[in-house]
Amino acid sequence: MKTALITGITGQDGSYLAEFLLSKGYKVYGLVRRLSTPNYIYLEHFLPKITLIEGDLRDQASLNHAVKLSQPDEVYNLAAQSFVATSWKQPEVTSEVTGLGALKVLEAVRHFAPHARVYQASSSEMYGNATENIQDEQTKFRPRSPYAIAKLYAHWISINYRESYGMYVCCGILFNHESPRRGIEFVTRKITDGVAKIKLGLANELVLGSLDAQRDWGFAGDYVQAMWAMLQQDKPEDYVISTGETHSVQDFVQESFAAVGISNWQNYIRQDPQFMRPAELFLLQGNSARAHNKLGWKPAVNFKSLVTMMVNADLERLKEKHRL
Ligand code: NDP
Ligand code: GDP
Repeated sequence: MKTALITGITGQDGSYLAEFLLSKGYKVYGLVRRLSTPNYIYLEHFLPKITLIEGDLRDQASLNHAVKLSQPDEVYNLAAQSFVATSWKQPEVTSEVTGLGALKVLEAVRHFAPHARVYQASSSEMYGNATENIQDEQTKFRPRSPYAIAKLYAHWISINYRESYGMYVCCGILFNHESPRRGIEFVTRKITDGVAKIKLGLANELVLGSLDAQRDWGFAGDYVQAMWAMLQQDKPEDYVISTGETHSVQDFVQESFAAVGISNWQNYIRQDPQFMRPAELFLLQGNSARAHNKLGWKPAVNFKSLVTMMVNADLERLKEKHRL
């Protein structure tokens, strides 16, 4: 039986990955930080099957302990301050957790489980104002937020540990991926939650920032399978994971309203500068041909199905909450 340690297990990807690894027969450990109120909402249905270890990406001793205790074959470093907008409000925390945190994970593995295979959650945000309209593993990085800069540090230090110490470390450059478990402040989930509220008569407007920004949105459940596949190869390498399609925020809005049968979506949208960013990233579209050829990976859920899945999940959740 293989053993995996997942940092960020309480988050969107961590919970899908844990489910996927359990289905493959893994023993799963998850790093969780101490909070005043535990947030195991996405873990509840399989909590008895996993082992949680208390720790924080800013605390080397806690990471050393987690690696020593779990003796993992595979480590998935998914923990991060992952919200781009917050990275301007809390640039130091973002740099410490999202950037230096990766170094601390690598150090813990180097000292206490040097043969473990490591997955680092790199991000398409690292491309920033990309030099090419479609981005792949060769595209230059031009990061445009404190988050992206922290991720780029984590990316390069991961490659450096691979080259310096011969460690098996892979970086997955993942484009945006969403699900009903996506954090509520990200634009997709904010839209599906807002549209579901409007449909149920719980709200009458949805306040957003830029409607023009375009993203390559996939389904998180598909993307965690690519993380695993990367660690099963003979050689550690880095891969772009994306759908290859791009859509604007406005497309996402329109599709979400269409999913609940509302066509005059413009009547419900208000734009507010507070949701505009100091530096916007207008276009992301990935080419994951390499992952397709080498890992045999391709996404199963398309844009329309993703939107419908998210809108329906929010409708169900709100109906239950408000007893509608
Ligand atoms: P989430 O924000 O849903 O989850 C982040 C996780 O990190 C949570 O479990 C959170 O714990 C944990 N965490 C935050 N700070 C710390 C800390 N100081 N110590 C330990 N754990 C901490 O992110 P996603 O699941 O969406 O993303 C997973 C990873 O992939 C992240 O690194 C993200 O930046 C990256 N990524 C995500 C993309 C996406 O589109 N989703 C695209 C590309 C990369 P808690 O619950 O306690 O807050
Ligand atoms: P990101 O790609 O990781 O920054 O993911 P987000 O979901 O946070 O943002 C995606 C895009 O949606 C960005 O270009 C945002 O500027 C844009 N956007 C427009 N309105 C909003 C909003 O109200 N909230 C968020 N989070 N993003 C918004």
